[in-house]
Order: sequence, then structure tokens, then C-alpha cells
Amino acid sequence: MQKTELDTHLIWFRNDLRIHDNASIQQAVTNAAKVLAVFCFDTKAFEIGALGFKKTEKFRARFLIETVKNLKANLEQYNIPLFVYLAEPEHCLPKLIREHQVSKIFMQREWTHEETLSVNQVKSNLPNTVKVIETYNQFLFHPDDIPFQITSIPEVFTNFRKQCEKRCMVRPLLPETLSGFKQPKIQNTTRIPTLSELGFEPFYTHADSAFPFQGGENHAIHRLHDYFYETKKLAFYKKTRNGLLGTNYSSKFSPWLANGSLSPRYIYHEVKEFERHHIKNQSTYWLIFELIWRDYFKYISIKHGNAIFKIGGILNKSYQWNRNPEKIKNWIAGQTSEPFVNANMIELKSTGWMSNRGRQNVASYFSRTLNLDWRIGASYFESLLIDYDVHSNYGNWMYVAGVGNDPRHRTFNVKLQAEHYDPHGKYQRQWLQNKLF
Ligand SMILES: Cc1cc2nc3c(=O)[nH]c(=O)nc-3n(C[C@H](O)[C@H](O)[C@H](O)COP(=O)(O)OP(=O)(O)OC[C@H]3O[C@@H](n4cnc5c(N)ncnc54)[C@H](O)[C@@H]3O)c2cc1C
Repeated sequence: MQKTELDTHLIWFRNDLRIHDNASIQQAVTNAAKVLAVFCFDTKAFEIGALGFKKTEKFRARFLIETVKNLKANLEQYNIPLFVYLAEPEHCLPKLIREHQVSKIFMQREWTHEETLSVNQVKSNLPNTVKVIETYNQFLFHPDDIPFQITSIPEVFTNFRKQCEKRCMVRPLLPETLSGFKQPKIQNTTRIPTLSELGFEPFYTHADSAFPFQGGENHAIHRLHDYFYETKKLAFYKKTRNGLLGTNYSSKFSPWLANGSLSPRYIYHEVKEFERHHIKNQSTYWLIFELIWRDYFKYISIKHGNAIFKIGGILNKSYQWNRNPEKIKNWIAGQTSEPFVNANMIELKSTGWMSNRGRQNVASYFSRTLNLDWRIGASYFESLLIDYDVHSNYGNWMYVAGVGNDPRHRTFNVKLQAEHYDPHGKYQRQWLQNKLF
């Protein structure tokens, strides 16, 4: 195909902040005279939400800055400039697109309310000649490959998993199309905002943080190699995954997966590689099993749309919920009558991280023991978690609160959980005696 001035392609990065295994990049560099990229620190993401919490707190904000810095540097190796704005996309994108006469925009397809609103607003400000190509790039099992129509995705995870495992393949990684790509330098005077420009004071990572890692795909890949090949912790994952202390009880991949700086397919193929060269056991399988949970909550969110944000959840249940401000405040501050809940909430507030075991307990205590409106807890998690992901967060909260996909409707016995998972109280002592908090 002949290259013309019109063949200027733009990659609009959102939750796919990587150059490896990225379908939008692969498509954009094909038949392009010029390739640009853009990322917006959307000002809306740093405002206070309807339930009183900042949508993004300092932990995820800093992780995002690190991620975008890494992405920018990686793209620059191929002379693809990453234009970065601190603005709403609908305000900065149309101008960039006009100035550079962009003919096609490539991006990851999202479906949740806020994400689609933003894309639709951008689209409505563009000339008709500009094409927008959206591709699913965040799944382990691609939506075109799963053995279900979206409307018939099973409401029970096991049924979903078993069918996918039997009838669906994880696609191979996309070829490294960028390695042969180079274009003349394009001027780019935009810069990545600082933490203080996003409204936060600089801060140190807590010395006891279970997630002391930095944002960006290079750090993600480094972590994977460390977890798989240096320490070989992957081989013990199933035994350690319910741990509470330290960096290695679980993979810690979630923050990179959440903003797309790590591809789930990349993890899958590395697990297969590990199985070929080291060991194949229940632990290696279980990491993939957990990645299927991640996929599952995405499919549930596509299937049920905005119901995942409603108090009755996808089951449209009507329980007696309350919004007692004192109880909410005590839960957040780690001042409930349950030391195990308190330790976990202090960890979250001090580090932006909490283990899966901790999350299940504090969410169950909030929604099923205190009967507090589960969406307030979910919204607080959204604000604080480094790894916040809309589908996993709301899917898990619904599940625990009894308005989602748990057929068993369990309430956690927090005292028994603490005895089982923290038998000597080491975890609780670490956070309850924490002076730096
Ligand atoms: C109330 C509640 C809220 C949660 N909110 C989030 C969230 O906002 N973002 C998020 O990524 N995870 C969320 N989770 C799921 C889970 O707690 C984290 O994915 C996990 O703790 C991350 O640690 P890891 O990467 O070391 O996980 P590992 O145990 O190493 O698992 C590997 C990967 O599998 C996926 N995974 C594991 N467990 C789950 C699960 N229960 N649901 C979906 N995916 C899973 C994650 O992508 C994870 O990175 C939530 C769980 C609960 C109970």
C-alpha cells in the first residue's frame, strides 16, 4: 500500500500501557506514514467521587506516572512520540488529531460507563474521516474465542472455567512488529505531570510494603523473571498464595495487569515455558486458574453492564444495607473490634496494598457483618488500591457481599480466619503496632 500524508496513525493508550503483545501498536505501525501515541492523565480520575473518596489516591497515581515514563521511553526507541496531557481526553485529543491530520486511532476496547463516555465524547468532536479502531487486548481468552455468547456467560465461575479450558486456546503472543519499525523524530513538547501536579505530596514507600515495586512494563517483566526463575516461587504458589507478609507469597502481578503494562498472555506463555524447563505442578496451573478469575470478572461486567455498580448487584438482591458514618470511619481507620480487619485496613492505608485473603475478610466484615452499603467499601478500595481494576474490584465486592457470583453466600468468620492465616499474630502485630502510619 502506498504511504500518503493521510496515513497518520494515533495510538490512544489507556489501560494497555505496554509495547509487548499490544494489538493497537501492531495495527498502528502497519501501513502508516507516521505513528503517534497519546496518554491523558484524565483530571476526572483525580477528583472526589460520589461516595466521598478521591477516585485515584497517591499510590496508584505514582504507579501510573512511573508506568507512563517507562512507556514513553520504550516508544522513543522507535521514534514514536508519546504525547502526554493532564486534561480530559475530550479536550486535548481532538486538537492533537487535527494538528497532525490523524486518519486512524487505535485503542483498547473498554465497555464500562466512564470509559465509553470518554471515547464517545472524543468521537463526537472528530471529523467523520477519522476512523477509530478498538480491539480487545486485556483478556487471557479472547472474546472471539470463548465458547459462549456474552449473554450466556455462566453465572458460576467453575462452569465458565471448565468450558474455556476445554474448548478455547490462549492465543500466541503478537509478533514484535516494532523491532523493524523506525520513523524520523517527531517533535513533542508535552511532558509527564509530577505527583504534585496531580495533587499529591511526594512520599516514600513504606518499609514493610508487600508491594515495593515500580510501575512500567520493564519492572513487570523483571518481577516475573524474579518470581519465576530467580526465586522459583511460582513452583510453590498454591501453598503460599493465602499469605499476608512479604513480597513473595503471591505473584504481585495485579497492579501491572490492571493498567495493562503486563499482558496476561505473556504470563501464560511464560508459565508454559517454566513448566517445560523447570516443573509443572498444581502451583503452576493455579496461577493460570487465577488469571481465569480475572477474565471471568471482565466477562461478567460485559454481560451485566452497569448492574455491577448497583446496590442489588447482578442478582438484583434487596438486603437491608446501612451507611452508618461512624462504622465506615472506624473500618477505614482500622479501629473496629476485629484486630485482623484493622491490621489489613492499616496496611491498605499505609501502602495501597492488601492481600487477597485480607480483602476477602475486610469486605465480608464491611458488607455482611456490619451490613454497610458494599459500594462504599468498593469505592474506598478503588481510591486506595495500587491494583484497582474496575471489573475485579466490583466483581469481587459483589461476590463477597452476596449480590454477585458466589452461589454459597458465605460470611467470613474473621476470628477463625485470623487464627488460621495468622496463627502467631505476626501479621497483625506488624500493622497494629505500626508507628509510621
Ligand atoms: C474485595 C476484593 C476486591 C478486589 N479488588 C481487586 C482489584 O481492584 N484489582 C485486582 O486486580 N484484583 C482485585 N481483587 C482480587 C485479588 O485480591 C487480587 O487480584 C490479588 O490479591 C492480587 O495479588 P497478586 O497479583 O499477587 O495475585 P496472585 O495470587 O498472584 O494471582 C495472579 C493474578 O490472578 C488474578 N487474580 C487473583 N485473584 C483474583 C480474584 N479474586 N479476582 C480477579 N482476579 C484475580 C490477578 O490478576 C492476579 O494478579 C479483589 C479481591 C477482593 C476480595
